[in-house]
Amino acid sequence: MSPANVLSNSGINVSFEFFPPKTEKMEETLWHSIERLAPMQPKFVSVTYGAGGSTRERTHHTIERILAETALVPAAHLTCVDASREEVDEVVRQYRDTGVRHFVALRGDSQAGVGGTYVPRADGYRNAAELVAGLKAIDDFEISVSAYPEKHPESPDFATDIDLLKRKVDAGATRAITQFFFDNDVFERYVERARRAGIYIPIVPGIAPIHDFTKIARFAGACGAGIPDWLARRFDGLETDEKTRSHVAAAFCAEQVLDLTRRGISDFHFYTMNRADLVYSICHILGLRAALPTGQAKAAAA
Ligand code: FAD
Repeated sequence: MSPANVLSNSGINVSFEFFPPKTEKMEETLWHSIERLAPMQPKFVSVTYGAGGSTRERTHHTIERILAETALVPAAHLTCVDASREEVDEVVRQYRDTGVRHFVALRGDSQAGVGGTYVPRADGYRNAAELVAGLKAIDDFEISVSAYPEKHPESPDFATDIDLLKRKVDAGATRAITQFFFDNDVFERYVERARRAGIYIPIVPGIAPIHDFTKIARFAGACGAGIPDWLARRFDGLETDEKTRSHVAAAFCAEQVLDLTRRGISDFHFYTMNRADLVYSICHILGLRAALPTGQAKAAAA
C-alpha cells in the first residue's frame, strides 16, 4: 500500500500518556503539551501513577485539571503494589467521585524495581488481574491493562505472559496497551499469540518517540524491550548533534507507525514524555488534523 493510501485512512485513533509533573516549570511544560495535542482529538489521555502511590496527589491533581479545563477523557493509571486493597479501593472511589470512568490497571514494581523479586502484600491485590476484578467490583469502569510484546522480564516464557493477559481480560479488561517496542514483527507475533490464546480485545501498540536514544536504550534494557542493531546504527555518532537526532527520531517513528497502519493497526498510544512536538508531527503524518473552529472551517471551505 502506498503512503498516499495510508494517509487517506480517516479511521486512526490516538491516545496520549503523560506523567504528573513535579515542579511548576514541569507543570507548564505539561500543559503546553496538552494544549498542543488536544486538537488531535485523542480517544483518551492517561496519567501515570507511581508505584506504591508515590505520585498519588500529583496524579490526582493532573486528572482533576484535565477534567476541569479540557474536554479530554482522562484515564487514571493505578498500581496496586505496596498498598492494601482498602487503600487502593479508596483511591478508586475518590477518582470515581471526580468523574473518572477509565483506569489503566497495573501491578507496578516493588521498591527493588523491575527484575527485583516481587512480593505481594498479604492484604493487597496480588497482580493486575486481581486489581481489574477489584475495580469491576466497585463500578463498571473502562479498564485498560498492560501487555508485553517481548514478554515481561519476570515472565519465564510467553505462555505465562499471555496467560496473565488472559486473566486480566477475563476479569474485565477491555483494552491492552503495550510496552514500547521498535520491531513491528515482534508486535505482530505477540498479537497472533494472544489471538491464538482466545484474547480478542484491542491490543494497542505503545509508541515511544525517541527523544533521547541513550536514555531510552537504558530504560529498554530494564523493562525487557529490545533495541534492534539497525536502530542503534541510525543514532550512532549523533550523541552531540541534537538537531539531526530529532530529525532521525521523527523519521523513524513515522516509519514505524506507517508500517503498523499497513499491518491493519488503527489505534496508537503515544508515550509523550510530556513533550508535544514529535508526537504532533507523527499524528499529522498519520493523517490527523486539528479540528478548526466552526468559523475558520467555513472560511477554509469557501
Ligand atoms: P501484571 O500484569 O500483574 O504482571 C506482569 C507480568 O508478570 C505478567 O505478564 C506475568 O507474566 C508476570 N507475572 C505476574 N504474576 C505472575 C505469577 N503469579 N506467575 C507468573 N508470572 C507472573 N508502572 C508504574 O509504576 N506506574 C504506571 O503508571 C505504569 N504505567 C504503565 C503503562 C503501561 C501501558 C505499561 C505497559 C506499563 C506500565 N507500568 C507502570 C509498568 C508496570 O507497572 C511494570 O511493568 C510492572 O512490572 C508490571 O505491572 P503489570 O500491571 O504489567 O503486572
